[in-house]
Amino acid sequence: MYKLIDGKQISTQIKDELKDRVAKEGIKATLAVIQVGDDPASSVYVGNKKKACEYIGIGSRSFELPEKTTEEELLDLIDKLNDDDDVTGILVQLPVPAHIDDKKIINRISPLKDVDGFHPENVGNLCIGQDGFVSCTPAGIMELLGRSGIEVEGKRCVVVGRSNIVGKPMALLLLAANGTVTVCHSRTKDLKDICKQADILVAAVGRPKMITSEYIKEGAVVIDVGIHRMDNGKLCGDVDFDDVKDMTSFITPVPGGVGPMTIAMLMVNCVKAASNRSENHNGK
Ligand code: NDP
Repeated sequence: MYKLIDGKQISTQIKDELKDRVAKEGIKATLAVIQVGDDPASSVYVGNKKKACEYIGIGSRSFELPEKTTEEELLDLIDKLNDDDDVTGILVQLPVPAHIDDKKIINRISPLKDVDGFHPENVGNLCIGQDGFVSCTPAGIMELLGRSGIEVEGKRCVVVGRSNIVGKPMALLLLAANGTVTVCHSRTKDLKDICKQADILVAAVGRPKMITSEYIKEGAVVIDVGIHRMDNGKLCGDVDFDDVKDMTSFITPVPGGVGPMTIAMLMVNCVKAASNRSENHNGK
């Protein structure tokens, strides 16, 4: 019988721990959230991020910029926020419109305020095992595993997907936890055979229900990062949950698995940025 990994419950637990810590330690944090254009999905994500800030007791400042905002204007705003001592974290909601180079934007955010963990300095820190900000979705998956009592050490871990935001940092985190990690992508040969060897399988492919029982080893832990809206209006993941669940020992549902963890870990990073800042100020 499989166990469901309840991301909703674990993310609430994390947010409650942060809320206590913010109140007890008097942490003063402000997250600046920048959205360019009015993509409805982005607006929902931004709204949820602001709500989470409110819940744990930190401030948020919203910058809703028109679609026609130039790259220069966006970079200028980031410069101002980097220099603003009251702002402890900066987040630019992706994707930005096509006329703006998202790499330039990510690179301009101060690594000390990069609560998304996308800046090359933070990615480098993750790679060489130094402290920094870690991309929220994979960091959330490590929390799901840890808080569900799932050991990574010595396990065969397969990550399907190699994006900078999910797949690559996921692989690095599993490696840091002493897993034996294989990363698969669209050019991987024998994908099913490789997945079938996994004790822990992370699906971050962006293809609805692609991972069926043919990809699963009996007793595997299956983490589904994908999120898709089906024609019937319901959400599904990259994993065919009903087909796969009885073969697994643990599995994340969609919705209610990985999704809620991303925002919880953003809050972890926001609190960390603020507390790092106050330590540095005290040390001066
Ligand atoms: P990307 O589209 O950036 O990356 C998808 C990866 O999957 C790529 O590396 C691609 O390979 C690989 N891939 C695509 N098709 C295949 C295939 N047939 N076989 C093997 N590999 C394949 O997606 P993201 O990493 O940003 O996101 C992945 C999923 O997770 C999406 O559904 C997204 O919506 C969801 N997501 C959910 C979040 C959450 O909070 N729950 C947060 C972020 C993402 P290649 O590199 O060769 O192109």
